[in-house]
Amino acid sequence: MIRPDLHLHTTASDGIFDAEEIARLVQRANVTMFSVTDHDTLDALPEAADAAYDRGLAFLPGVEVSTEGDDEVHILGYGVRYDDEVLLSCFRQAAEDRKNRILGMADKLKALGMALPIEDILAHAGSSLGRPHLARAMMERGYVDSVQQAFEQYLGKGKPAYFPRTTMTAAQAVSLLRDRRAVPVLAHPGLIHWPLERLMPMLKVWQEAGLKGIEVYHPANQGNYPYWDRLARQRGLLVTGGSDFHDGTSSHGQIGETADIWPHACDDAWALFRAVNKHA
Ligand SMILES: [Zn+2]
Ligand SMILES: [Zn+2]
Repeated sequence: MIRPDLHLHTTASDGIFDAEEIARLVQRANVTMFSVTDHDTLDALPEAADAAYDRGLAFLPGVEVSTEGDDEVHILGYGVRYDDEVLLSCFRQAAEDRKNRILGMADKLKALGMALPIEDILAHAGSSLGRPHLARAMMERGYVDSVQQAFEQYLGKGKPAYFPRTTMTAAQAVSLLRDRRAVPVLAHPGLIHWPLERLMPMLKVWQEAGLKGIEVYHPANQGNYPYWDRLARQRGLLVTGGSDFHDGTSSHGQIGETADIWPHACDDAWALFRAVNKHA
C-alpha cells in the first residue's frame, strides 16, 4: 500500500524544515511516498532523494511553479530533473523578477512615508522573497498592527504600494514542464478564487497545453473533494494529493493528512508514478 503526500515545502522555498527533516517527518507520519515541491526552485531535490533512499521511502521529485500574478494559480511539475538547465534558468529569472518587484513596492512605501531597511530584508529573505517579508518589516517598524492590515491597506492588489508580478501564464508553465518531460498538475484549485465560468474554460486550455492532472486532495479543496475528483476523472486527468506542509502551523496542512481522506490514494499515486516514468 502506498500512502502518499505529494506536496511538501522545505527551507529551499518557504518551509521551515530542510529536506532531511522533511523525510524524517514523512516517515513519522507513516507516509511511504512523498514529493518535495518547492516554489520555483529545485535546490532541495538531491538531498530529499538521498534522505528518501536512506529511509526506504519512495520519492517523486517535484516543483511548484508560480503563475498568473497573485491569483494562486500554481502548477506542480512531477518528475523534474534537479539539474535541468532550462528550468533552472527560468527560476533564476523568476527570482530576479521577484526581487525587482519587492524593490518597486519598497519605493512606493517610502514615498508614502514608510521607509524600510530594504537591504536587510533582501539579505534575510532567501529565495522565496515575497510581500509577507515587507508586511512583517512594516509591522516591526510600527507602520501597521498586523500582516493582514499591511495587505489590506497597502500591499494587496489595487492598493497604493501594490506592484504587479510578471510571472508566466499557467499555460506557459504547463508547456514548459511538458517540454522538460515532467508531468504538470494543477495545484489546489480551491485556492484559485476565480468563478467557475472563468476557471473551466481555462482548464480546457491548460489541458490542451499538456496538463495531466488535478491536485484534488489538498486542504484548500475541503468540502469539494467529490466534485474535483469526478471532474478530473471525467476529463481523463490524474488525481493527486498532498498536504502543502510548510511549518506545522494551522495555515497549511499536516504531513499525511490528505492520505487519510483520499479514497484511492494508492492507485492514484501509482498512476502518477507510471506517468512520470512514461514521460521521463
Ligand atoms: Zn500553491
Ligand atoms: Zn505549495
